Amino acid sequence: MLDMALNATRFFRNESCGKCVPCRVGSQKMVDLLTGWTMGEGSPSDMGLIEELSDALRLTSICGLGQVVPAPISSVLKHFREEVEAHVSRRECPSGICFAGEKRPNLAAMASRPV
Ligand code: SF4
Repeated sequence: MLDMALNATRFFRNESCGKCVPCRVGSQKMVDLLTGWTMGEGSPSDMGLIEELSDALRLTSICGLGQVVPAPISSVLKHFREEVEAHVSRRECPSGICFAGEKRPNLAAMASRPV
């Protein structure tokens, strides 16, 4: 889900016309943060930063494109927060998608499965 949010955010960043600073700079910052999370470079303080950045984009972007930039990660954080926290806090991708394609299975979940 984090990878999906990153792809959607990259799309919005690419489509930004650059007229206003919050969208032009904020969408790039959002992509940088999410990319870091998929590469094991996140920190727990990033969660607060994402929320501040999301508010700034929603409240200060001139048009709907800038205002919707935070929607993908906001939705993923609302419905799949544990998955995101696994990336940020434990540097673990439960789906084995992130970390430069390196498969990192959730060993705790595998250990608890019945044989
Ligand atoms: S919010 Fe709209 S006007 Fe502002 S940079 Fe983004 S696309 Fe352009």
